[in-house]
Formats: sequence, C-alpha cells, structure tokens
Amino acid sequence: MNVLLVYPEFPDTFWSFKHALPFQGKRSAYPPLGLLTVAAMLPARWQKRLVDMNVRRLKDSDLDWAEVVFFSGMMVQGPSMKQAIARSKQRGRRTVVGGPIASAADPAIAEADHVVEGEAEELIAGLAADLERGEARPHYKAPQLPDLTTVPLPDLRLSKLGNYSAMAVQYSRGCPFTCEFCDIIEIYGRRPRTKTPEQIAAELDRVYQLGWRGPVFLVDDNFIGNKKNVRVLLPRLVEWMRDHKFPFSLFTEASVNLAEDEELLRLMREAHFTRVFLGIETPVEESLKETTKFQNLRRDLLESVRLIQSHGIEVMAGFIVGFDNDPPDVFERQIRFIREAAIPLSMVGLLSALPNTQLWRRLKGEGRLLKESLGSNTLLDLNFIPTMDPQELIQGYRRILETIYSPREYFERAQAFLAQLGSSARAPIVFSDWMAVARSLWRQGLRSDYKKEYWKFIAQAARRHRQHLDKAITLAIMGHHFFELTWAGGSET
Ligand code: SF4
Repeated sequence: MNVLLVYPEFPDTFWSFKHALPFQGKRSAYPPLGLLTVAAMLPARWQKRLVDMNVRRLKDSDLDWAEVVFFSGMMVQGPSMKQAIARSKQRGRRTVVGGPIASAADPAIAEADHVVEGEAEELIAGLAADLERGEARPHYKAPQLPDLTTVPLPDLRLSKLGNYSAMAVQYSRGCPFTCEFCDIIEIYGRRPRTKTPEQIAAELDRVYQLGWRGPVFLVDDNFIGNKKNVRVLLPRLVEWMRDHKFPFSLFTEASVNLAEDEELLRLMREAHFTRVFLGIETPVEESLKETTKFQNLRRDLLESVRLIQSHGIEVMAGFIVGFDNDPPDVFERQIRFIREAAIPLSMVGLLSALPNTQLWRRLKGEGRLLKESLGSNTLLDLNFIPTMDPQELIQGYRRILETIYSPREYFERAQAFLAQLGSSARAPIVFSDWMAVARSLWRQGLRSDYKKEYWKFIAQAARRHRQHLDKAITLAIMGHHFFELTWAGGSET
C-alpha cells in the first residue's frame, strides 16, 4: 500500500514564525512529529511519503502515487486541510484524518473518508488492516489514553531536517490543571503520561545520528505536568547532553509553578534548556480565578518570571484578554505586566471558546456562543458574546499589540530581558545561524524602517551583555516576525 502523509499549511500567525524563518534559510518551525510517529506505526511493508505543505506544495503526482492519504493537524490548519482532502478525493484517493482537528469534529474534515478521534497508538494496527481489506470504517475512536512507553521512535527519515528551524521530541501528553479554556485536558486528559528516560535518550540519539545540531523543542503541553517523572528524566538528560558535548539547546512549555521548584530549574539549566513558554494569561486575579487557573495565583507572577529568567532560561509567554472579569483597564495592565516582566516574545490573544472545552460548555449553557472557534486566538474574530463591549475589546487588544510590538518598546523590553537573564546555556552555533546574522544585519540593519532602534539595541547588547549577543540577534529576528504581523497587515492580528 502506498500511503501519503500530508501536513496542511499553517496560516501566517504569531506561532508560524513565517517572517523569521527566512533569516535562517528555513521553511518551517518543526517537522510534523505526530504524522512521523503515525508513519512508524504503519506496517513496515507499506511505502510511505511525507508532504509537509509548510515546506513544499502538494503536487498532483504525489496524490497519483498514493493509494491512501493520511492527514493530521490542528484546527488552525483546517482551511488548508479541507482543500487538500477535496483534491485527494477528486483524484479518487481514500482519505484518513487524525490529530487534534479530528477530536474537534471540525467541519473542515467533513469530507474525509475515515476520521480517527483521539490518540492513534492503540487503533492504528486495526485501521491499517481494515484499509488493506477495503473495509475501513468511517469513524475510529481510541478506546483509552495510551501508555506512552509503547510509542515508537518517529520515522524522521521521511522529512528533510534541514528545512526546519528546530527538531521536535515529545516527552509527555496531558496536564494536571483545569484551565477552563484549555482543550489539551479534554483531548489528552488530566493525568500526564510520560515516556521513559530511555525512550527520550533513544529519540535524541536518532536526531543526533541524523546530523541535527541546534534547537530541540520538547513539544509537551506541560513538561512538568508529572514532576515525579521529570525529576527522574532530567539527570538522565543532563548526562546524555554531557556525553554528546551539548549538541542541542532545548526549549519547552510548562506551567508557571515551575518557579516553585528551584531544583528543577537548576537541572533544566544544566540540561541546556534555554527557553520555556509559560501560560501566564493575565495579571488580573479575578480573571485567573474565573478561568480556574489557580496555579498562577500561588505566587507573584512577576517574581516567578524573574526567577526563571535568573536561571538563564528565557520566558516566552501567552496572554489572553476577553475574560468576563477583565476590568476596563485590563489592556494597560497587560502592557505594564509584559513590560515589567521583560518578556520579549509575548503571545497575546483574544479568548476563544474551543470546542468541547469547559468554557465552550459554560458559554453554550449561557446562550453566549456565536459560532465555532477557528482554533486561533489571534484572529480578530470573537466566537462568543463577551461581557465587555466587543468593539472596546478588539480595540484594546489591538492597542496591546501595537504597543508591545512597536520596535522601540520591543527592543527596550528585549534589552531589559538581557539585563535580568542569568548565565544562559550556550546554544551550538551552526551555519544557518551565521547566515541569519548576515541577513539580519542586511535586512534589519540596512533596509528596515526601524533600523535606528535595531542598531541601538545591538550596540547596547554588544556593550553590556556581550555573553548574550547571540540571543540578542535571535530576539531581533523574532521581533521582525511580530512587527510584520502587527504592522504590515499580516493575515491575522
Ligand atoms: S496549564 Fe496549560 S495545558 Fe494545563 S490545563 Fe492549563 S492551559 Fe491547559
């Protein structure tokens, strides 16, 4: 059986980093780990090809080669997936859809022949056998949340690693917390399941053997969701990195309570974690209570960010406006918090009611749902009736973005961040990094309309924070992505 694995295109959002990738000569941020893992679970006798539409276009010849086309993706990839499913069907191909979009019953997948809801590990063998016999059912639902210790190594040979700015490795699924807007806990559960340290070492070995050097993203929703297991993993991770002379810099996502555990922070720093994404959401306590994000109320959020940054780990963070309890001055409070916390990469979004979340159910019960979410909280498109005047909310949201991503404010914040960053692990410098520096100096230093702010930032970083100069250049390049989306009329914001 010839199977084509297709990863649909992401729109131009904060998360795509589309305006930063060309500096490094890269086409996409990470390879499609879910599809590569599915590929490893399909029968070895099947022929497999991968088309990541973020890297190259899907050609008719790809579809003509295939007997069955597997899709995976998130809701935000829905429009691209819908078109690709239609093209596959026009050419008479069977289509199978899985991934988070399948759990959301998104209309984009309505035309697919077979939908796989939930995690595929325990049903993929049955699905493959049914496809071979021509007896596959329209709908498959995972019987339970699988044990991650049985997940095989992803088949990385199907993707060209050089197209990506970072590699992806998954350690855990699920999160113990209860945030009302979160779909992770609905799909992956509240009991975080983890791989073993041996599995992670084997995945890192594979990435290393394939020649990758540079950033590796541990794509967990909450890396510290199972603290007991992560305490066992981290010393092994440190050992692996030391044995291989620290070939990677690591980054991940974690809950704010990471700041409660200095031992974990110390181990993460030792393992060469250089960045962590935190869901801060809001400095407004009433809104955190409303969304049952109690872990963010346990200690001062500003102090938590500063503590993590003092361990040499950059904090990148998510923020949300649109909670029922948001006061009229929420926009100014968000701006002030982001400025004082010195978080250069702040992802601010409008609250969105994702399907099947606690928030979605509450708003439905209150008669406040307007339509299904598009799966992106940076679209200027509310899918529920907020308590604040919608126009005021959208204008306030835009005001936050235009303030925090004005080049002057951004570079000042990045400078303040460098000043409070503790001794950071040095990321290995590879050829694409040198190219990125050259392109940054040319594109941002000579041709941008913010070149004055850029040179001021670079000069100050070189004078005061020479040890973080590589980070300063990376932040300047990332800033370009946010400036483009905020000011140059990107498809969002
Ligand atoms: S901490 Fe993050 S992953 Fe966990 S429930 Fe909250 S939003 Fe979801």
